Amino acid sequence: MIVLKTEQEIALIREACQITASIFAAVKPEIKAGVSTYELDQIVYRTIVSQNARPAFLNYGDPPFPGSACISINEEVVHGIPRKNRYLKNGDIVSIDVGAEYNGYFGDACRTFLVGDVRSEWQKLVEVTEQSFWKGIKQVKKGNRLGDIGHAVQTHCEKHGFGVIRDLTGHGIGANLHEDPNLLNYGRAGRGLRLEVGMVMCLEPMITEDSFHIQILPDQWTIVTADRKAAAHYENTFAITEKGVEILTLTAGEREQYAEQLSQIENQGWA
Ligand code: MG
Repeated sequence: MIVLKTEQEIALIREACQITASIFAAVKPEIKAGVSTYELDQIVYRTIVSQNARPAFLNYGDPPFPGSACISINEEVVHGIPRKNRYLKNGDIVSIDVGAEYNGYFGDACRTFLVGDVRSEWQKLVEVTEQSFWKGIKQVKKGNRLGDIGHAVQTHCEKHGFGVIRDLTGHGIGANLHEDPNLLNYGRAGRGLRLEVGMVMCLEPMITEDSFHIQILPDQWTIVTADRKAAAHYENTFAITEKGVEILTLTAGEREQYAEQLSQIENQGWA
């Protein structure tokens, strides 16, 4: 069942999302060779609780997820567990996926960062993954359907020869971290549910260097590419309002970086 959100609910989700975005500003300067994923997770934890929010991923699921962030390096796609003995190395790519609950509402977002000098193929993977989010989000417009979003993400990534993971998807969000509908990163244009005001969802392309097949590691959380080639992940929570599409989990710096794209979607009018 899809829960459409009121303006008041979106205002509450926005607050949770702004806390979520603040995590990236806090963690970004600390991403360098030699830092452990546990140390990064501690920064995430402190950033969330210092704003009277709760880390949404901590103790989530079964077995309970033991971190505040999912930190996934290179061939790890998502759900990497922060560890004291896992260090970033020069040349890694690392995705940091975070969620915060505040006043009963959730925000969820992910960035993939470069550690030092990253090989150009991986730089391109990270870049194209991020671009594909923007290709998808531009399809969030009146009259369009869920399939238009996934189709745009898929087309862009496959054009560059990358794989689009099928077994993991974006999702609705609100008073729960994961709500209906699933928001696929692939699909057929013009198919699926019609987009409407009050939908709040996470669009999160998970893109691989080559094959899109994945495996889960024995720790029961970490998901890796089956061929152990690299993967990248980029995610934002967004809301459809009567004004247009609002991306709720951008930092101030990112809003500046993407000013042009934002101007195209934020005031398009929907009502
Ligand atoms: Mg998500």
